[in-house]
Amino acid sequence: MENCIFCKIVAGEIPSPRLYEDDKMIVIRDIEPKAKLHYLCIPKTHFAYLSEMDSEKAEILKYCFEKIAQIYPTLGLEQGYRVIINQGENGNQTVPHLHIHLLGGEKLKDF
Ligand code: 5GP
Ligand code: ZN
Repeated sequence: MENCIFCKIVAGEIPSPRLYEDDKMIVIRDIEPKAKLHYLCIPKTHFAYLSEMDSEKAEILKYCFEKIAQIYPTLGLEQGYRVIINQGENGNQTVPHLHIHLLGGEKLKDF
């Protein structure tokens, strides 16, 4: 998708070290971490919003969650982590390319 910052990161047009990569998703560090460890899991296929979910997109998300369950210890998240997907304006979603935030590396405050 043209002018999508995460598509550009996926394509390597914007350099960003990958903590994990396969044919369907990448994991990078958030540029403005909100916890000691803050990662973004970004599906390589562009779709903007969680609210667009259909069975095809659900497969992509399912894949990401299964993969996260396999790799979280390699990210330093063995003690636990928080999963966030921001949706739309009130959810403070700033990048309209669906992504999963993983926060951890410390005891997180309740919200
Ligand atoms: P959202 O607010 O859409 O849920 O999350 C977007 C996240 O992407 C924000 O936490 C922001 O800090 C992060 N971000 C925005 N641009 C970049 C970038 O160029 N590189 C990285 N690593 N993170 C970014
Ligand atoms: Zn995109």
